Amino acid sequence: MQLIQAIRGFNDILPPDTFYWNFLETHIRRLAALYGYEEIRLPIVEKTELFVRGVGEVTDIVEKEMYTFEDRNGDKLTLRPEGTACCVRAVLEHGLIHNQIQRLWYSGPMFRHERPQAGRYREFYQAGFEVFGIADVYIDAELILLTASLWRALGVLDKLSLQINTLGTPASREAHRTVLIQYFEEHRAALDEDSLRRLYKNPLRILDSKNPNMAEVIAGAPKLIDFLDADALKYFEQLQAILKENGINFTVNPSLVRGLDYYSHGVFEWVSHQLGAQATVCAGGRYDGLVSQLGGKPTPAVGFGIGLDRVILLLRANEKLPTLEQPLVYVLSVGEEAKAQSMKITENLRQSLQKPIVNDTSLASFKSQMKRADKSGAKIALIIGEDEVKAGTISVKFLREDRPQQAINQADLLGFLQNM
Ligand code: ATP
Ligand code: MG
Repeated sequence: MQLIQAIRGFNDILPPDTFYWNFLETHIRRLAALYGYEEIRLPIVEKTELFVRGVGEVTDIVEKEMYTFEDRNGDKLTLRPEGTACCVRAVLEHGLIHNQIQRLWYSGPMFRHERPQAGRYREFYQAGFEVFGIADVYIDAELILLTASLWRALGVLDKLSLQINTLGTPASREAHRTVLIQYFEEHRAALDEDSLRRLYKNPLRILDSKNPNMAEVIAGAPKLIDFLDADALKYFEQLQAILKENGINFTVNPSLVRGLDYYSHGVFEWVSHQLGAQATVCAGGRYDGLVSQLGGKPTPAVGFGIGLDRVILLLRANEKLPTLEQPLVYVLSVGEEAKAQSMKITENLRQSLQKPIVNDTSLASFKSQMKRADKSGAKIALIIGEDEVKAGTISVKFLREDRPQQAINQADLLGFLQNM
């Protein structure tokens, strides 16, 4: 019979990789607590309408990347392609941002129908942080500081660079839009199909194109930064000043516009040159317009998402992965009676030592149990054979040290292991 395989772009995460994922997720959880962010857990499936309204109709995500289907009731549903719209939906639904500030984070799988390649999958993982109810630019800076301290904790801060830009206020964007359309009309021949379609609907989005053939025409385009009104300019200068004051290096990238519709003011990306075309590991910014776009009262908001798959690739590329936690003890038994005893002994050791212990209950040949003990990485093999059962002892064999094997009374075993 033919084996059933996973769907293209959907990956199994196997041991020992799961260990590295836990390591990353533990750091994120720790930092969230350190900065006062509370976890929120959100559904994986939402109404399609949420993303059409929340992400924007003229975006890569909504135009071509969503996993959308009808369920048995005929409701139009989508596997979430990102978390921000879901988070806003939830805080509105539960009244969490009614006259109050929220600092929230979440983590989990996202789904986009893209061409799978290194660092780009159809199911991928994001951790997202969102703050609601604070208009002050200091919170934007705090979020950036939080990401910097995550990279520092993971040992990859020097492998990443921070790019920032401003998308200004709606008024400044409008002024820019007019000249941008004019410019691209003059360079129509250089535009690809996507960009031609976006020319009048959402010309800013053209700047976000990943098509290398368009790099030149994009580089020459009028910069939003030259059209900022006083408010937008003040905000952006302040953001830069705070980052400098707090020792965060950055460059201003005027082409950084972000793929989603809801951003305004400051946007940022952390980029690595070690990840090929999939260089951005974290992206975010201010999105003051989104809450009202989804039916809430106008509420200032800012946040970011970390692409966890890409962070794992970066940790691997720099060998910044933790050493695997290996079992301390591997227990072997020979004979049914020994096996029955091993269960009790192992369970007792686990509870008392709180260390990982593997009990081999296969009753396979002594030689093959020893092979597995060695492969497990355990420091010690405990052997219970027929002689040990008779004598009430257990044999201790040191797998990583040049020490003679010794027999210990079962009653003394715990003390022996504790004093090692
Ligand atoms: P890209 O330009 O790489 O397509 P994006 O602008 O679509 O990214 P966002 O929507 O901002 O990405 O998502 C935030 C982060 O999530 C990205 O910076 C990236 O690290 C990660 N990410 C996005 N799409 C994928 C994917 N298909 N596979 C793996 N990671 C992804
Ligand atoms: Mg994308």
